[in-house]
Amino acid sequence: MGMKKRSVITNLRGVVTPDPAHAWAVDYLEGGAIALDGGHVAWLGFQKDLPSEWRAAEQVDGQRRWASPGFVDPHTHILFGGDRSQEFNRRLHGVTYAQIAAEGGGIRETVRATRQASLEELIAIGEERLRKLARKGVVHLEAKTGYGLSLESESRLLQAYGELKKRGWSLDVTLMPAHDIPLEFQGDPDGYAKVVADEWQPELVKRNPGVASFCDIFVEKGVFTPDHGRKVLCSGKALGLTPRMHADEFVDTGGAALAAELGAASADHLMFASDAGIKAMAEAGVTPTVLPATTLFLGMRDWAPARKMIEAGCRVALASDFNPGSCACLDPLLILRLGCLQLRLTFEEALTAVTLHPSRSLKRANLGHLHPGALGKVLLWDVKHPLELVYWMGEAFVPEIIG
Ligand SMILES: [Zn+2]
Repeated sequence: MGMKKRSVITNLRGVVTPDPAHAWAVDYLEGGAIALDGGHVAWLGFQKDLPSEWRAAEQVDGQRRWASPGFVDPHTHILFGGDRSQEFNRRLHGVTYAQIAAEGGGIRETVRATRQASLEELIAIGEERLRKLARKGVVHLEAKTGYGLSLESESRLLQAYGELKKRGWSLDVTLMPAHDIPLEFQGDPDGYAKVVADEWQPELVKRNPGVASFCDIFVEKGVFTPDHGRKVLCSGKALGLTPRMHADEFVDTGGAALAAELGAASADHLMFASDAGIKAMAEAGVTPTVLPATTLFLGMRDWAPARKMIEAGCRVALASDFNPGSCACLDPLLILRLGCLQLRLTFEEALTAVTLHPSRSLKRANLGHLHPGALGKVLLWDVKHPLELVYWMGEAFVPEIIG
């Protein structure tokens, strides 16, 4: 529905939205209404208080549903070739990850398939996945390169993201050639980090100007060290990219503190982040981004300490981490539900963590809420109360999307 002109969504059961003036405040406006002007929220309040100047505007019938802002997913790996469902089942049959890797499977299989995919194939793959997410209420997301791991293939991924943006998809793109160490650099992470920092990142930005706004690296034991992280992310900063970081997923390498030191927008995963790292993120305003569906998919029990982060003063975000190896999840409601069921966030906290705080970490102040100035993308849910979205835990609620 085109909503560029003035309109009012009325006859809603209510409006639920985080309040961007506070870290963790959620407003429930029973009998609320939303006025939209030029694609943005112009007024939010109770329908009975609707200013008279809006009475003549086009009315959109809310049909007694609840309105919420759209979901914002701040950590995905949307573009990759192939899938790993066979590997998934082999692991259930007892084959170990190490065995699969030794046979050239795992991430290497995805890198192979991604390198083989043409630009057109990558764009088609991206559109299909983005359409699925959009139908479920995701209005904006972050998406990374990192399954090419060669200059040409990473460049093609970036080009595909650029084309998806041109087609109108609302994306922030993150450059991530340091997602893993490619076969060509096996046993030489120093050499690979150096080539990414000194040669590939500058070249990728030069070839695809304006496509990426962030850079990222997988800092983890056995992959990249904090020193590699510093080198690659400082190179990205010099190119005008803002750092994000895969940090402290399997062991504590001091990733959270490094993200704070480098002024990163986010540190992501954080299952093993230390108390000192959490404190450093709170002080530096880094958004800890927790990926609970990955913990679930990997069958791990080490849920990131999201409660502890909130209590330390962090504005926690939740993300899908959609990727072929450790989280084949295109379901924003599952993320919201795991926030409540496993991370023990309240519904209000979990809702804020899938809307407002990810928007902040992506520097998108007009997303993640429905207060005046916000982008006028509104989800309408056929529920008596928004709590039902989590409470009916397997229910496939599909929102209508206005705007
Ligand atoms: Zn990731």
